[in-house]
Amino acid sequence: MRVYNFSAGPAVLPEEVLKEAADEMLDYQGSGMSVMEMSHRSKTYDKIIKDAEADLRDLMNIPDNYKVLFLQGGASSQFAMIPMNLMKNKVADYIVTGQWAKKAYQEASIYGKANKIASSEDATFSYIPDCSDLPISEDADYVYICENNTIYGTKFKTLPNTKGKPLVADVSSCFLSEPVDVTKYGLIYGGVQKNIGPAGVVIVIIREDLITEDVLPGTPTMFKYKIHADNESLYNTPPAYGIYICGKVFKWLKKQGGLAAMKEYNEKKAAVLYDFLDESSLFKGTVRKEDRSLMNVPFVTGNEELDAKFVKEAAAAGFVNLKGHRSVGGMRASIYNAMPIEGVEKLVAFMKEFEKNNA
Ligand SMILES: *Cc1c(COP(=O)(O)O)cnc(C)c1O
Repeated sequence: MRVYNFSAGPAVLPEEVLKEAADEMLDYQGSGMSVMEMSHRSKTYDKIIKDAEADLRDLMNIPDNYKVLFLQGGASSQFAMIPMNLMKNKVADYIVTGQWAKKAYQEASIYGKANKIASSEDATFSYIPDCSDLPISEDADYVYICENNTIYGTKFKTLPNTKGKPLVADVSSCFLSEPVDVTKYGLIYGGVQKNIGPAGVVIVIIREDLITEDVLPGTPTMFKYKIHADNESLYNTPPAYGIYICGKVFKWLKKQGGLAAMKEYNEKKAAVLYDFLDESSLFKGTVRKEDRSLMNVPFVTGNEELDAKFVKEAAAAGFVNLKGHRSVGGMRASIYNAMPIEGVEKLVAFMKEFEKNNA
């Protein structure tokens, strides 16, 4: 029996995709082998990775002057790869809205001067600061944000005014959840295990002029965007099976109607939970309303023992992985693309029942 999995990541994937992958496990389209067993230089695999890229370009409407790279090392290796490749002046501005942005900021400080130009740490990262007129450094190579804060449940609804500097965004937990205007970014990246596929793949969408040979001295070959761009993500063995699953999810998203349809669905789905939180006498959301994420919804009862009781009883009822991140406590429901609205409706019904029984 499948449960309703509210994990922040690795997270729920579309059942249809999992079934298809299961059907193809032993014999991928007459090749007599699994995609896991296949040469990444084979014709069959070449079609898999090329189709995945084409479908992603289609979904996100990615302009031709952007490269799509399928890399490894998780989102966290980008914390280093970005400064190593983009810090020509050795200066970058960071907006710190959570633990992931903070880690990226700290990592960049190893390679150059990373400036924390805004932060919401003063209120446990429960809001997004006003980024309309920040002190962007004259010689900043880029401005960095984490667009959706997985742990705290906040999301940038308006992108920062970078005053002409390239915007770099970690979109790990909001990837493909709604349409994006790629032209507003210099680089978009995300680990796929939140909203797209199995852990082990990180997708980087980067404007071509930012891909150069001029990287920081000592940058490992595997950490150069140029080597991966020049080799179409096949410089070495890519995370082949993971990319194959991502490709299936791209096709599934297209079948759902693309990103505009996903946004509509995700808004409707998130509203089921947020509307309840707003009227509940027991549960309450922890984030400033206007900054609420559509993907990660943290909430608390205000009583740690009751939180723990809720998480335990919810799990027994088939709603799993609702425990909040250790730095926030309470609960967090991650309701990514593949979480059906019925899952959220049933969770809310369960919360209502819990509220009644624990009044
Ligand atoms: C999960 C997450 C990361 C870290 O991803 P890894 O693949 O484990 O390195 C980074 N940024 C955000 C926004 C995340 O949600």
